[in-house]
Amino acid sequence: MADPAECTIKVVCRFRPLNSAEVARGDQYIPKFKGEDCVVIAVSKPYYFDRVFQSNTTQVQFYNAVAQKIVKDVLDGYNGTIFAYGQTSSGKTHTMEGKLHDPDMMGIIPRIVQDIFNYIYSMDENLEFHIKVSYFEIYLDKIKDLLDGMYWLLNTGCTERFVCSPDEVMDAIDEGKSNRHVAVTNMNEHSSRSHSIFLINIKQENSQTEQKLTGKLYLVDLAGSEKVGKTGAEGTVLDEAKMINKSLSSLGNVISALAEGSTYVPYRDSKMTRILQDSLGGNCRTTMVICCSPSAFNDAETRSTLLFGQRAK
Ligand code: ADP
Ligand code: MG
Repeated sequence: MADPAECTIKVVCRFRPLNSAEVARGDQYIPKFKGEDCVVIAVSKPYYFDRVFQSNTTQVQFYNAVAQKIVKDVLDGYNGTIFAYGQTSSGKTHTMEGKLHDPDMMGIIPRIVQDIFNYIYSMDENLEFHIKVSYFEIYLDKIKDLLDGMYWLLNTGCTERFVCSPDEVMDAIDEGKSNRHVAVTNMNEHSSRSHSIFLINIKQENSQTEQKLTGKLYLVDLAGSEKVGKTGAEGTVLDEAKMINKSLSSLGNVISALAEGSTYVPYRDSKMTRILQDSLGGNCRTTMVICCSPSAFNDAETRSTLLFGQRAK
């Protein structure tokens, strides 16, 4: 058993700005920030997190504060997972991916990739690195590989692709995204109903000492957490809604069991938690990013999102 003191689960919260439609409608901006770790919605009780990021937080500020340390840990041989949780259009994809080819607007994933390769390039020649990436989604509790290749990741049946440079990783992401696009008619709807998971696996070998070190990092853009309207939902829509509910609540149960140091962690309750099992809890580095809309229009969803994040504390 891993030492529970080593179990590091962090929960941070990020508010996006009001978007143009919300501004045009005259929506009220509802969060009030208290210090660096607390937010209040209207007259609600305060919600506390490890950090709360206001709407004007830039991509690089967010990366430096939240993700940079995990990269170092993964290079030291730890496993880790970063999740983005929140309702559709709360900023999950902005946070995880951002604009992949825009240096200012890049999200966490491309910055992590850059940092990993900068580290590798700075190391001496005795160290040999093998970097593999996988990219898949979970939809209706089924896994769909977004890359097409020859090596298979055992517990998912997905492709593992060896990559030698940041450009090769970005090519893999672009390819996975376009595979995702061609498979569905409405991408926005689909991405809000499926979890997308990007995995980076790093193996280091010292040719002199023969020492080996492996770390992997899961980067997860979760399905939208909003409740599907109770009326009219049937067929696929209802199946999707049930499945998303089940997988998000099982993720919540796993994270809160880990946070409480409980001896039983219900990893086997959903496909996602089974896959992530060896990168959650124990001495893994887990970070949940709680993404929120600031508009009064989304008040109820925002509160339920914040509550989900609090369960992990
Ligand atoms: P989600 O993936 O949760 O559905 P997105 O990340 O696609 O939401 O965000 C919805 C819109 O809001 C996008 O146009 C995105 O660029 C914008 N947005 C999200 N978060 C921020 C932010 N922190 N700052 C500026 N724009 C943001
Ligand atoms: Mg998205």
